[in-house]
Amino acid sequence: MRLSRYFLPVLKETPAEAQIASHRLMLRAGMIKQAGAGIYSWLPLGFKVLRKLENIVHEEQMRVGHIPMLMPTLQPADLWRESGRYDDYGEEMLRIKDRQGRDLLYGPTNEEMITDIFRAHVGSYKDLPLTLYHIQWKFRDEMRPRFGVMRGREFYMKDGYNFDLTQEDALHSYNRHLVSYLRTYERMGLQAIPMRADSGPIGGDDTHEFLVLAETGESEVFYDSQITDLKFGDREVNYDSHEACRAVLEEFTSRYARTDETHDEALFNEIPEERRRTARGIEVGQIFYFGTKYSEAMGATVQGPDGKSVPVHMGSHGIGVSRLVGAIIEASHDDKGIIWPEGVTPFHAGIVNLKQGDAEADAACEALYAGITALGLDPLYDDRDERAGGKFATMDLIGLPWRITVGPRGLKNGVVELTSRRTGESEEMAPEDAIRRLA
Ligand code: ATP
Ligand code: MG
Ligand code: MG
Ligand code: MG
Repeated sequence: MRLSRYFLPVLKETPAEAQIASHRLMLRAGMIKQAGAGIYSWLPLGFKVLRKLENIVHEEQMRVGHIPMLMPTLQPADLWRESGRYDDYGEEMLRIKDRQGRDLLYGPTNEEMITDIFRAHVGSYKDLPLTLYHIQWKFRDEMRPRFGVMRGREFYMKDGYNFDLTQEDALHSYNRHLVSYLRTYERMGLQAIPMRADSGPIGGDDTHEFLVLAETGESEVFYDSQITDLKFGDREVNYDSHEACRAVLEEFTSRYARTDETHDEALFNEIPEERRRTARGIEVGQIFYFGTKYSEAMGATVQGPDGKSVPVHMGSHGIGVSRLVGAIIEASHDDKGIIWPEGVTPFHAGIVNLKQGDAEADAACEALYAGITALGLDPLYDDRDERAGGKFATMDLIGLPWRITVGPRGLKNGVVELTSRRTGESEEMAPEDAIRRLA
């Protein structure tokens, strides 16, 4: 992409309404624009990151055998009357009437709708196990929308639902989700720690939240510092194996890690004092096993091997895709701007032309652009007729991992400058070598 032809409305001033770094930086970097309280437009740069996160979520879901689909944002109230949640959900639910006077709602989550789909089409244990998911906009009329996309009212969420014949199978689905989430967040450059949590309006006993440690997080968390040494890495896991998934779950959940809702001071104090940590965290996902709560209420049954009809065991599993954009920035920025992890960066490298219009500099930039593109990577070329200082500030603000600076002086010696956004270190090298370093 050439910046002269892109739409990147960066702001010079720090917006007064933004209280935390990620909100401030997303506004300043032209990633989002507020449309209403807790409702945002995703401008091209923000949209690119959102899509990258969405793709990672899809890839990791499909890797473990979960099946993508898409349910609507608007749902008939009657489904929620069946589960009893139409009355229970309270004011967070946005309720709408259509012209026929029918009650609709903008979905805050989809347990009822997926259960309705399941009961209409699945009747035998032979069709199990089954996990369906979608990534779709949700609406919750939050009392205090704030921090930009971190607590929006409209937000983008992956929600998945497993259907199993037995509790044991459903707990395997739960464990498999936990394992796949570890891999998903790591690919985004994040450490998200699974913590024992409270089930809230979804109901059920087994649930973990995934938290990214950050000073601006809304949850208070308590954990054993050993947990931050754990890495999922590129290990191969047999996701169909109950033992393999359980082993990973045990590795990542055996140390103390809880949010304030489930914190147990006595248990916490059993950890050696130097390992006890109290911090703040951002909830970026949650998984639940809730048994037959919805299947019984809504008649989602299958015929078992013995011919008897039994309600299926279910769980639901969410990832806050739009919140993650903010969470990644909270975890990775400095006073100049965002620092994107390689896996989610909107562009792989920025090319800064110090002397636009100089034939040699222009040609060198074009060659770099072509070379980087040929690697299958996505460069952003700042080809505007602007001062170098302004170009550097924009690159630092939008946080691409690499910047290649091209100017007549360097070109006389056959070199350009490659700068790492994370370390700030620069190195001069031939243009071909700079391209090679990005590969
Ligand atoms: P919170 O405690 O932050 O209100 P939640 O527990 O109500 O979140 P879940 O029902 O567990 O949320 O939804 C799954 C995920 O969706 C959350 O882990 C979070 O990442 C994301 N999410 C929930 N509410 C919002 C929101 N208002 N804005 C952005 N993302 C959200
Ligand atoms: Mg909530
Ligand atoms: Mg929560
Ligand atoms: Mg939650």
